[in-house]
Amino acid sequence: MKDLLCDQFQETVNEYLIRHRSVLDIMAKLQESTARVNRAVTKSVTSCGCVEVHAARQQYPADATLEQLRDHAADHVNGKLCDHCREVVEAELGNNLFYLAALCNTFDLNLYDVILKEHKKLAALGVYNFAD
Ligand SMILES: [Zn+2]
Repeated sequence: MKDLLCDQFQETVNEYLIRHRSVLDIMAKLQESTARVNRAVTKSVTSCGCVEVHAARQQYPADATLEQLRDHAADHVNGKLCDHCREVVEAELGNNLFYLAALCNTFDLNLYDVILKEHKKLAALGVYNFAD
């Protein structure tokens, strides 16, 4: 059974995308929207200050199992997004999803199928899947 919300979202994107229907425009907007997600996260650090980034080389115990490696890997984020920054990051992620769905529409790909295939791949590979 297909996920109805995901299919409806793709259909709505199809209806609302009028000005930038060229695949070139969609690719440019998708990349731009990804940059805007990163900018929103950056501004939560540099403008708002609700979160801080303290990055350093990952430290792993020498004899750690793969599961233990995951538990030791730091995200380097201190704090939580405040309500405002959370709203901005969510909005930018939503815009990013819009252009992702638009790219799927261009090539008649079903976004839910893409998510499903990736989920199945992750479930099959488990902890041995290192996406980078
Ligand atoms: Zn904030």
